[in-house]
Amino acid sequence: MDLSKHAYFEGKIVPLSEAKISIAAHAFLYGTSIFGGMRAFWNEEKQRLFVFRPYDHFRRLLHSAKMMSIKTEYDEESLIQVTLDLLRTDNWKQDIYFRPTFYKADLGIGVRLHDVKDDFSIFVMGYEKYVKNDTSAHVTFSSWRRVDDNVIPARAKVAGAYVNSALIKSDAVQAGFDEALVLDHNGHVSEGSAMNIFMVRDGALVTPPITDNILEGITRRTVIELARRELGIDVVERSIDRTEVYIAEEMFFAGTAAGVTGITKVDHRPVGRGVMGPVTTQLRALVDDAVRAKLPKYEHWNVAV
Ligand code: PMP
Repeated sequence: MDLSKHAYFEGKIVPLSEAKISIAAHAFLYGTSIFGGMRAFWNEEKQRLFVFRPYDHFRRLLHSAKMMSIKTEYDEESLIQVTLDLLRTDNWKQDIYFRPTFYKADLGIGVRLHDVKDDFSIFVMGYEKYVKNDTSAHVTFSSWRRVDDNVIPARAKVAGAYVNSALIKSDAVQAGFDEALVLDHNGHVSEGSAMNIFMVRDGALVTPPITDNILEGITRRTVIELARRELGIDVVERSIDRTEVYIAEEMFFAGTAAGVTGITKVDHRPVGRGVMGPVTTQLRALVDDAVRAKLPKYEHWNVAV
Protein backbone atom coordinates (compact mmCIF):
# COMPACT_ATOMS: atom_id res chain seq x y z
CA MET A 1 0.00 0.00 0.00
CA ASP A 2 1.31 3.40 -1.03
CA LEU A 3 1.02 5.35 2.25
CA SER A 4 1.56 9.07 2.70
CA LYS A 5 4.82 10.44 4.07
CA HIS A 6 2.96 12.71 6.46
CA ALA A 7 -0.13 12.49 8.63
CA TYR A 8 -2.19 14.89 10.69
CA PHE A 9 -1.86 13.79 14.31
CA GLU A 10 -2.50 15.45 17.68
CA GLY A 11 -3.04 18.84 16.11
CA LYS A 12 -0.16 18.99 13.65
CA ILE A 13 1.34 17.53 10.49
CA VAL A 14 4.03 14.97 11.37
CA PRO A 15 5.91 12.18 9.55
CA LEU A 16 3.60 9.16 9.35
CA SER A 17 6.11 7.10 11.37
CA GLU A 18 5.52 9.43 14.34
CA ALA A 19 1.72 9.22 14.20
CA LYS A 20 1.22 6.40 16.69
CA ILE A 21 -1.31 5.59 19.37
CA SER A 22 -0.83 3.36 22.39
CA ILE A 23 -1.98 -0.26 22.71
CA ALA A 24 -3.86 1.01 25.78
CA ALA A 25 -5.85 3.58 23.77
CA HIS A 26 -9.63 3.39 24.15
CA ALA A 27 -10.18 3.35 20.36
CA PHE A 28 -7.83 0.39 19.96
CA LEU A 29 -9.44 -1.53 22.81
CA TYR A 30 -13.08 -0.89 21.93
CA GLY A 31 -13.27 0.23 18.28
CA THR A 32 -14.44 3.64 19.49
CA SER A 33 -13.41 5.74 16.57
CA ILE A 34 -15.40 7.13 13.68
CA PHE A 35 -13.96 7.84 10.30
CA GLY A 36 -14.49 9.21 6.83
CA GLY A 37 -13.39 7.58 3.59
CA MET A 38 -12.60 10.38 1.18
CA ARG A 39 -10.90 10.76 -2.15
CA ALA A 40 -9.10 13.37 -4.19
CA PHE A 41 -8.77 12.94 -7.94
CA TRP A 42 -6.03 14.04 -10.30
CA ASN A 43 -7.28 16.04 -13.27
CA GLU A 44 -4.68 15.56 -16.00
CA GLU A 45 -5.92 18.42 -18.15
CA LYS A 46 -5.96 20.95 -15.33
CA GLN A 47 -2.86 19.42 -13.70
CA ARG A 48 -4.57 19.67 -10.34
CA LEU A 49 -5.85 17.52 -7.54
CA PHE A 50 -9.50 17.96 -6.49
CA VAL A 51 -11.11 16.72 -3.28
CA PHE A 52 -14.62 15.41 -3.93
CA ARG A 53 -17.48 16.80 -1.83
CA PRO A 54 -15.37 17.44 1.29
CA TYR A 55 -18.05 19.59 2.89
CA ASP A 56 -20.59 16.73 2.72
CA HIS A 57 -18.06 14.15 3.89
CA PHE A 58 -17.01 16.24 6.88
CA ARG A 59 -20.60 17.03 7.75
CA ARG A 60 -21.29 13.29 7.91
CA LEU A 61 -18.09 12.79 9.93
CA LEU A 62 -19.23 15.39 12.47
CA HIS A 63 -22.63 13.69 12.65
CA SER A 64 -20.89 10.36 13.36
CA ALA A 65 -18.86 12.13 16.06
CA LYS A 66 -22.03 13.49 17.63
CA MET A 67 -23.65 10.03 17.77
CA MET A 68 -20.53 8.75 19.55
CA SER A 69 -20.38 11.66 22.03
CA ILE A 70 -17.10 12.86 20.53
CA LYS A 71 -16.59 16.53 21.24
CA THR A 72 -14.61 18.69 18.84
CA GLU A 73 -13.84 22.29 18.02
CA TYR A 74 -13.48 21.43 14.33
CA ASP A 75 -16.18 22.37 11.85
CA GLU A 76 -16.46 21.50 8.14
CA GLU A 77 -14.34 24.47 7.04
CA SER A 78 -11.48 23.88 9.46
CA LEU A 79 -11.43 20.17 8.58
CA ILE A 80 -11.18 21.07 4.88
CA GLN A 81 -8.29 23.42 5.68
CA VAL A 82 -6.38 20.76 7.62
CA THR A 83 -6.93 18.33 4.73
CA LEU A 84 -5.64 20.77 2.12
CA ASP A 85 -2.56 21.52 4.26
CA LEU A 86 -1.80 17.82 4.58
CA LEU A 87 -2.34 17.01 0.90
CA ARG A 88 -0.12 19.93 -0.10
CA THR A 89 2.65 18.72 2.21
CA ASP A 90 3.10 15.51 0.22
CA ASN A 91 2.36 17.18 -3.13
CA TRP A 92 0.20 14.33 -4.48
CA LYS A 93 -0.22 14.17 -8.26
CA GLN A 94 -2.37 11.02 -8.49
CA ASP A 95 -5.72 9.70 -7.30
CA ILE A 96 -5.64 9.31 -3.55
CA TYR A 97 -7.81 8.04 -0.72
CA PHE A 98 -7.61 9.56 2.75
CA ARG A 99 -9.02 8.75 6.11
CA PRO A 100 -9.97 11.39 8.67
CA THR A 101 -10.65 9.77 12.07
CA PHE A 102 -11.96 11.00 15.39
CA TYR A 103 -11.01 8.59 18.12
CA LYS A 104 -11.34 8.02 21.85
CA ALA A 105 -7.76 8.64 22.88
CA ASP A 106 -7.58 8.06 26.65
CA LEU A 107 -5.43 5.20 27.90
CA GLY A 108 -6.78 2.34 30.00
CA ILE A 109 -9.95 0.32 30.22
CA GLY A 110 -13.53 1.44 30.78
CA VAL A 111 -16.32 0.80 28.27
CA ARG A 112 -18.19 4.04 27.85
CA LEU A 113 -18.40 7.07 25.59
CA HIS A 114 -18.55 9.87 28.17
CA ASP A 115 -15.57 11.40 29.96
CA VAL A 116 -13.01 10.07 27.50
CA LYS A 117 -10.59 12.39 25.71
CA ASP A 118 -11.05 12.59 21.93
CA ASP A 119 -8.49 13.27 19.23
CA PHE A 120 -8.34 13.56 15.47
CA SER A 121 -6.04 12.23 12.74
CA ILE A 122 -5.75 11.89 8.96
CA PHE A 123 -3.55 9.72 6.81
CA VAL A 124 -3.45 9.40 3.05
CA MET A 125 -2.74 6.63 0.56
CA GLY A 126 -2.54 6.11 -3.16
CA TYR A 127 -5.88 4.87 -4.47
CA GLU A 128 -6.35 1.19 -5.29
CA LYS A 129 -9.53 -0.26 -6.79
CA TYR A 130 -11.83 -1.59 -4.09
CA VAL A 131 -13.78 -4.13 -6.16
CA LYS A 132 -11.32 -5.48 -8.74
CA ASN A 133 -14.05 -6.69 -11.06
CA ASP A 134 -15.91 -3.39 -11.23
CA THR A 135 -17.87 -3.79 -14.48
CA SER A 136 -19.16 -7.34 -14.01
CA ALA A 137 -19.23 -8.15 -10.32
CA HIS A 138 -20.75 -11.44 -9.17
CA VAL A 139 -22.31 -11.02 -5.74
CA THR A 140 -24.06 -13.23 -3.22
CA PHE A 141 -26.45 -12.62 -0.36
CA SER A 142 -24.42 -12.66 2.81
CA SER A 143 -25.49 -14.93 5.66
CA TRP A 144 -24.58 -12.03 7.97
CA ARG A 145 -27.09 -9.31 8.77
CA ARG A 146 -26.30 -5.61 8.62
CA VAL A 147 -25.79 -3.90 11.99
CA ASP A 148 -29.09 -2.45 13.10
CA ASP A 149 -29.65 1.17 14.11
CA ASN A 150 -30.48 -0.07 17.62
CA VAL A 151 -27.28 -2.14 17.82
CA ILE A 152 -24.59 0.02 16.25
CA PRO A 153 -25.90 2.74 13.93
CA ALA A 154 -25.01 2.00 10.30
CA ARG A 155 -25.44 5.69 9.52
CA ALA A 156 -22.38 6.40 11.67
CA LYS A 157 -19.02 5.25 10.33
CA VAL A 158 -17.98 3.58 13.59
CA ALA A 159 -14.72 1.63 13.32
CA GLY A 160 -16.00 -1.23 15.50
CA ALA A 161 -19.00 -1.75 13.22
CA TYR A 162 -16.64 -2.59 10.36
CA VAL A 163 -16.16 -6.02 11.90
CA ASN A 164 -19.60 -6.61 10.37
CA SER A 165 -18.31 -5.45 6.96
CA ALA A 166 -15.15 -7.56 7.27
CA LEU A 167 -17.14 -10.73 8.05
CA ILE A 168 -19.38 -10.03 5.07
CA LYS A 169 -16.52 -9.29 2.66
CA SER A 170 -14.28 -12.23 3.59
CA ASP A 171 -17.07 -14.81 3.45
CA ALA A 172 -18.11 -13.57 0.02
CA VAL A 173 -14.60 -13.41 -1.45
CA GLN A 174 -13.52 -16.74 0.04
CA ALA A 175 -16.62 -18.35 -1.48
CA GLY A 176 -15.53 -17.05 -4.89
CA PHE A 177 -17.75 -13.96 -5.19
CA ASP A 178 -16.60 -10.39 -5.75
CA GLU A 179 -18.82 -8.84 -3.09
CA ALA A 180 -22.01 -9.38 -1.12
CA LEU A 181 -25.47 -7.94 -0.66
CA VAL A 182 -26.50 -7.64 2.97
CA LEU A 183 -29.99 -7.91 4.43
CA ASP A 184 -31.00 -5.95 7.50
CA HIS A 185 -32.95 -7.30 10.49
CA ASN A 186 -36.23 -6.82 8.63
CA GLY A 187 -34.99 -8.87 5.69
CA HIS A 188 -34.62 -5.90 3.36
CA VAL A 189 -31.57 -5.30 1.22
CA SER A 190 -29.41 -2.70 2.94
CA GLU A 191 -26.08 -2.35 1.11
CA GLY A 192 -22.82 -4.09 0.23
CA SER A 193 -19.93 -4.58 2.65
CA ALA A 194 -18.89 -0.92 2.29
CA MET A 195 -20.96 0.60 -0.48
CA ASN A 196 -24.55 1.52 -1.22
CA ILE A 197 -26.72 -0.37 -3.67
CA PHE A 198 -28.97 0.60 -6.58
CA MET A 199 -31.16 -1.43 -8.90
CA VAL A 200 -33.11 -0.55 -12.04
CA ARG A 201 -36.65 -1.96 -12.05
CA ASP A 202 -39.18 -1.12 -14.74
CA GLY A 203 -36.92 1.72 -15.84
CA ALA A 204 -36.79 3.47 -12.44
CA LEU A 205 -33.72 3.65 -10.26
CA VAL A 206 -34.45 2.19 -6.83
CA THR A 207 -32.29 2.40 -3.70
CA PRO A 208 -33.00 1.62 -0.04
CA PRO A 209 -34.08 4.58 2.10
CA ILE A 210 -31.78 5.95 4.80
CA THR A 211 -34.04 4.28 7.39
CA ASP A 212 -33.08 0.75 6.19
CA ASN A 213 -29.78 0.52 8.08
CA ILE A 214 -27.45 1.98 5.48
CA LEU A 215 -24.63 4.46 5.58
CA GLU A 216 -25.89 7.72 4.13
CA GLY A 217 -23.43 7.58 1.26
CA ILE A 218 -22.11 10.65 -0.49
CA THR A 219 -21.75 8.70 -3.75
CA ARG A 220 -25.35 7.51 -3.30
CA ARG A 221 -26.44 11.14 -3.04
CA THR A 222 -24.32 12.03 -6.08
CA VAL A 223 -25.85 9.21 -8.15
CA ILE A 224 -29.40 10.25 -7.16
CA GLU A 225 -28.76 13.87 -8.15
CA LEU A 226 -27.09 13.01 -11.47
CA ALA A 227 -29.73 10.40 -12.40
CA ARG A 228 -32.56 12.86 -11.82
CA ARG A 229 -30.99 15.96 -13.32
CA GLU A 230 -28.80 14.62 -16.12
CA LEU A 231 -30.61 11.44 -17.17
CA GLY A 232 -34.15 12.44 -16.20
CA ILE A 233 -34.69 9.05 -14.55
CA ASP A 234 -37.16 8.45 -11.73
CA VAL A 235 -35.31 7.71 -8.50
CA VAL A 236 -37.27 5.92 -5.79
CA GLU A 237 -35.99 5.50 -2.23
CA ARG A 238 -37.83 2.49 -0.84
CA SER A 239 -37.20 -0.85 0.83
CA ILE A 240 -35.98 -3.59 -1.50
CA ASP A 241 -36.95 -7.25 -1.08
CA ARG A 242 -34.40 -9.99 -1.64
CA THR A 243 -36.12 -11.53 -4.65
CA GLU A 244 -36.52 -8.18 -6.42
CA VAL A 245 -32.79 -8.25 -6.91
CA TYR A 246 -33.09 -11.49 -8.89
CA ILE A 247 -35.42 -9.85 -11.40
CA ALA A 248 -33.85 -6.38 -11.58
CA GLU A 249 -32.84 -5.06 -15.01
CA GLU A 250 -29.60 -3.57 -13.68
CA MET A 251 -27.73 -3.34 -10.42
CA PHE A 252 -24.72 -1.48 -9.17
CA PHE A 253 -22.80 -0.48 -6.06
CA ALA A 254 -21.96 3.13 -5.30
CA GLY A 255 -19.26 4.26 -2.92
CA THR A 256 -16.19 6.43 -2.60
CA ALA A 257 -13.78 3.50 -2.86
CA ALA A 258 -15.99 1.40 -5.15
CA GLY A 259 -17.10 4.22 -7.48
CA VAL A 260 -19.98 2.87 -9.57
CA THR A 261 -19.43 -0.90 -9.76
CA GLY A 262 -21.63 -2.85 -12.17
CA ILE A 263 -23.19 -6.01 -10.74
CA THR A 264 -23.99 -8.50 -13.48
CA LYS A 265 -24.67 -11.69 -11.51
CA VAL A 266 -26.36 -12.39 -8.17
CA ASP A 267 -26.07 -15.90 -6.76
CA HIS A 268 -25.38 -17.34 -10.24
CA ARG A 269 -28.38 -15.58 -11.78
CA PRO A 270 -27.61 -12.99 -14.47
CA VAL A 271 -28.80 -9.45 -13.73
CA GLY A 272 -30.81 -8.40 -16.80
CA ARG A 273 -28.83 -9.68 -19.77
CA GLY A 274 -25.78 -10.39 -17.65
CA VAL A 275 -23.79 -7.36 -18.83
CA MET A 276 -23.55 -3.85 -17.40
CA GLY A 277 -26.71 -2.02 -18.57
CA PRO A 278 -27.18 1.45 -20.09
CA VAL A 279 -28.23 3.27 -16.90
CA THR A 280 -25.25 1.92 -14.96
CA THR A 281 -22.88 2.70 -17.83
CA GLN A 282 -24.10 6.29 -18.12
CA LEU A 283 -24.05 6.93 -14.38
CA ARG A 284 -20.58 5.44 -14.09
CA ALA A 285 -19.31 7.88 -16.72
CA LEU A 286 -21.11 10.83 -15.13
CA VAL A 287 -19.79 10.06 -11.64
CA ASP A 288 -16.29 9.61 -13.02
CA ASP A 289 -16.48 13.04 -14.66
CA ALA A 290 -18.02 14.64 -11.58
CA VAL A 291 -15.32 13.45 -9.19
CA ARG A 292 -12.58 14.65 -11.56
CA ALA A 293 -14.03 18.17 -11.82
CA LYS A 294 -15.01 17.67 -15.46
CA LEU A 295 -18.66 18.72 -15.09
CA PRO A 296 -18.80 22.53 -14.93
CA LYS A 297 -22.38 22.42 -13.61
CA TYR A 298 -21.23 20.48 -10.54
CA GLU A 299 -17.87 22.15 -9.88
CA HIS A 300 -19.10 23.22 -6.45
CA TRP A 301 -18.47 19.56 -5.47
CA ASN A 302 -14.77 19.81 -6.25
CA VAL A 303 -12.32 21.60 -4.00
CA ALA A 304 -8.92 22.26 -5.59
CA VAL A 305 -5.88 21.35 -3.52
N1 PMP B 1 -21.83 1.91 3.05
C1 PMP B 1 -20.78 1.63 3.84
C2 PMP B 1 -20.96 0.65 4.96
C3 PMP B 1 -19.54 2.25 3.61
O1 PMP B 1 -18.50 1.97 4.39
C4 PMP B 1 -19.41 3.15 2.53
C5 PMP B 1 -18.09 3.78 2.23
N2 PMP B 1 -17.88 4.94 2.98
C6 PMP B 1 -20.54 3.43 1.74
C7 PMP B 1 -21.73 2.78 2.04
C8 PMP B 1 -20.50 4.42 0.62
O2 PMP B 1 -20.48 5.73 1.14
P1 PMP B 1 -19.73 6.90 0.39
O3 PMP B 1 -20.33 7.01 -0.95
O4 PMP B 1 -19.97 8.09 1.22
O5 PMP B 1 -18.30 6.51 0.32
